[in-house]
Amino acid sequence: MERTLGIIKPDAVSRNLIGEILALAEKNGLAVRALKRLHLTKKEAEGFYHVHAERPFFGSLTDFMSESPIVVVVFEAEDAIAKWRKVMGATDPAKADEGTIRKLYAQNIERNSVHGSDSPESASTEIPYFFSALEIV
Ligand code: UDP
Ligand code: MG
Repeated sequence: MERTLGIIKPDAVSRNLIGEILALAEKNGLAVRALKRLHLTKKEAEGFYHVHAERPFFGSLTDFMSESPIVVVVFEAEDAIAKWRKVMGATDPAKADEGTIRKLYAQNIERNSVHGSDSPESASTEIPYFFSALEIV
């Protein structure tokens, strides 16, 4: 079994899409092992996305991620990382497959409703960014 970090981003939480998005994950075999709602500071958003610090969209992305609450979730499944990224769809909703979360709900390439770890290495740093071992059961 593998674990991945999912985030329901501010654009989706503010449009009351938490339930729809978790339902799509669960229907696709991703089990929720930890879950919470929180409002990141700008600094916390910058810390989470530090790998993108040199990218031109970093300032705008971290403003967006700290504008209002998010929901963070640990999913568990066989191949959870790939499975969740498939349910999410491509980063740019214009390129996302039919039926994916980003095709259904994303507003644009930045306000794209969800995050998912992209490798076992990123999952192993992203999960503890939000959850202690005692919170994942
Ligand atoms: N992003 C953006 N403009 C871009 C590429 C990415 O605003 O041209 C944002 C978008 O919210 C994306 C996040 O930065 O989800 C992280 O980018 P990444 O390439 O890691 O995409 P993801 O892994 O989320 O599909
Ligand atoms: Mg990424």
